[in-house]
Amino acid sequence: LAPKNGPVSVTSLSAFSRLLSSLAILEQRDGKLNHSSLGSVTAAQKLGGSITAFVAGANIKAAAEEAAKTKGIEKIIAVDNAAYEKGLPENYAPLLVENIKKGGYTHVIASHSAFGKNLLPRVAALLDVQQISDITGIEDEKTFVRPIYAGNAIATVESSDNIKLITIRGTAFPAAEAEGGSASVEDGVDSKAEAISEWVSEDLAKSDRPDLATAGKVVSGGRGLKSKEDFDKIMLPLADALGAAVGASRAAVDSGYADNSLQVGQTGKVVAPQLYLCAGISGAIQHLAGMKDSKVIAAINKDADAPIFQVADVGLVGDLFDKVPELTEKLKQ
Ligand code: FAD
Repeated sequence: LAPKNGPVSVTSLSAFSRLLSSLAILEQRDGKLNHSSLGSVTAAQKLGGSITAFVAGANIKAAAEEAAKTKGIEKIIAVDNAAYEKGLPENYAPLLVENIKKGGYTHVIASHSAFGKNLLPRVAALLDVQQISDITGIEDEKTFVRPIYAGNAIATVESSDNIKLITIRGTAFPAAEAEGGSASVEDGVDSKAEAISEWVSEDLAKSDRPDLATAGKVVSGGRGLKSKEDFDKIMLPLADALGAAVGASRAAVDSGYADNSLQVGQTGKVVAPQLYLCAGISGAIQHLAGMKDSKVIAAINKDADAPIFQVADVGLVGDLFDKVPELTEKLKQ
């Protein structure tokens, strides 16, 4: 990444004069499109130029056809091969590189999800370009905004690479709506590279509650809950009364009160719901990094000096073991 007013090489000048063409990487699971990955299309729309989307895995026809309805996408490149189903980066990266080379894209955009974070660094290494991670804004085709130091500073970075490989923060680029478009669906190049890693198994926490990363309301519990039993007994009824997703602090996750996939913060998920209601969370900066952009933050803590109250719009000083069940009952009424 060059400094903003730094020298620009001749190759990059010629690159910038090319027409913009973005490849938006879509995610799917068991043939179903992951809608939050359509945030990459939103970012591509902001850049302007032509938009192609890419999807790979087993039986992806339905996912590709659904994505094709997204306004602004001209073409979907689909590679139907079970080898790419789980998105293992060792197998997926060479595939993506072949398709990027064939399409000659100026920008490749993926979500800053576990999949995108796993995949794009490998693609960047194979293409010998610098990845631009976790952006929250686009100033122009080569200038991007991204939080650094757990969101305590905002960097504006400029890339002079021929191909900009970007991951986007989901909360800054909401999913494009899968309607109003009629993209063509074409088979991509399947490099059929020898698979050097193999999917063995997965152990997923299943829940009927809304997805934490995209939910409009989140209730989150911390170390103050004291045990897994209390976390479940106190926080889950509150989540259900509100129709909210459940989150947790790292201390709660590390203590085994909540599943690892529920962690909010610098090393967990970044969320920005309409309402973030937390109880028994002190408000460490690493936790704030994952939720401080929520529209309304409400906090329950027995310590009036807890740092969470500095960012909360609504605060309640009290014992969560009394206050949360009382609130849940009132919500049910
Ligand atoms: P504590 O800080 O122990 O706070 C518990 C709170 O509960 C206290 O404020 C207390 O007053 C309150 N309380 C206790 N009992 C009650 C009661 N009965 N009623 C009401 N209130 C009560 N943390 C994250 O959350 N997410 C991250 O992604 C993350 N990443 C990190 C990355 C790094 C590199 C590091 C170093 C740390 C990271 N952390 C992260 C950890 C972070 O620094 C804090 O340790 C953690 O957030 C604290 O969790 P907590 O607020 O639940 O616990």
